[in-house]
Amino acid sequence: MTETSRTSHATTLRPLNADELSTIVGEADAEQRTLALRGGRTHERFQNLGDPTDLELDLTGLDGIVDYSPVDLTLAVEAGVRLATVDQLLAEQGQRIALDVPHRGSATFGGTFACGLSGPRRLRYGALKDMVIGAEVINREGFTTKSGGMVVKNVSGYELARLHYGAHGAFGIVSRLNLKVLPTVESRAEVAATYTTAEAAAEAGAAVLVSTLDPAAVYIVRSAPGQWVLRAQIEGSLQFARVQLQAVGQSLGAPENVEYVGIGGYSTPDFDRVVELREADTLVARVSVPASRQAEALAALDALESATLLADMGSGLVYVRSKDIGPAVASLKALGWPTAYLALPGESADDVDVFGPMDEAGLAVLRRLKDQFDPQRMFNPGRFVAFL
Ligand SMILES: Cc1cc2nc3c(=O)[nH]c(=O)nc-3n(C[C@H](O)[C@H](O)[C@H](O)COP(=O)(O)OP(=O)(O)OC[C@H]3O[C@@H](n4cnc5c(N)ncnc54)[C@H](O)[C@@H]3O)c2cc1C
Repeated sequence: MTETSRTSHATTLRPLNADELSTIVGEADAEQRTLALRGGRTHERFQNLGDPTDLELDLTGLDGIVDYSPVDLTLAVEAGVRLATVDQLLAEQGQRIALDVPHRGSATFGGTFACGLSGPRRLRYGALKDMVIGAEVINREGFTTKSGGMVVKNVSGYELARLHYGAHGAFGIVSRLNLKVLPTVESRAEVAATYTTAEAAAEAGAAVLVSTLDPAAVYIVRSAPGQWVLRAQIEGSLQFARVQLQAVGQSLGAPENVEYVGIGGYSTPDFDRVVELREADTLVARVSVPASRQAEALAALDALESATLLADMGSGLVYVRSKDIGPAVASLKALGWPTAYLALPGESADDVDVFGPMDEAGLAVLRRLKDQFDPQRMFNPGRFVAFL
């Protein structure tokens, strides 16, 4: 039965299955109550502050593995299942899900899908949306809508699950995800080469990307002033990894030094540290920059001396981590590329749309979607793009 707890701010309900969740949402709709949605709470800072809500819905009680077929490489999970639970289940069958998500003991599949973020291995494996073959979503009236299924090619027409990817629950509550999974790899390793300029590192990274080499991830980190480390990760059989590592190393062109390192588990060195959101006084921003302009963006941000800078060359995203909030925000504004704040401390967070400005045409579509799917603004009110 649904668990209920109360704090001085709000009542929290924790439904234990999709039927209980549907009932709660249906009743909230009838009573015109608003709901704040919570998964593992690892990314609560990555949303607008929003309006106070009548209820909090803790979705971690939807924690069932619905279906797992190792031979079909498919898995269906309820939205509150933690990534670590799936890691363990899949590892027993020599399988895995290739997502760079940290805090895997807390992070839920629903929250990860709703956030729509990605890590550097997106280059090789795609983002979570590319692994999802079906989804169930609870709409504002408490009804379950289904899209896709449990086979890999089963969508024609609109793929509705994608509407909810990165939507932060603005259009409905994800209750179940069906996923493609992968075999585990024998080996993960990395080439790290250090350059004195961002341009040189980006040029070497671009050469790796456009070659016949097959890296899982390629990204650049400014580790100290004048030190730009290009990391290229290789995954596969031991033999494949060895051959690839050597080939990548040879193609890097006059770096200061090249290191070959083995890496285990889900670690993506440096990236995990740059995008970590738990330090309350630290800004973390994500800038969308075409791969061909990343070196230029890094050079422009180089003046932020104490910031950590990272360019994910596979996805065209640049990340900035800084405790000097004012100068960092000013530099990002001057840069002019679309910027989202995964974490924005202090007063600046009150009136800034953390998702960044959006063009009018795109905004008009989002507003119509919100009006269609959640006209009473019941789900996470004010927390999504443009305070929808
Ligand atoms: C270093 C690093 C690497 C990362 N790499 C990746 C990656 O490779 N791929 C990737 O996908 N993500 C990645 N992320 C993002 C991240 O890990 C997830 O987005 C996160 O784990 C969110 O899960 P949560 O359960 O804690 O969500 P919460 O923080 O609880 O919620 C996040 C948002 O989702 C909403 N929400 C929660 N559950 C639901 C639901 N069931 N239905 C609708 N809305 C809901 C909440 O209201 C809130 O707006 C990375 C993050 C970091 C820091």
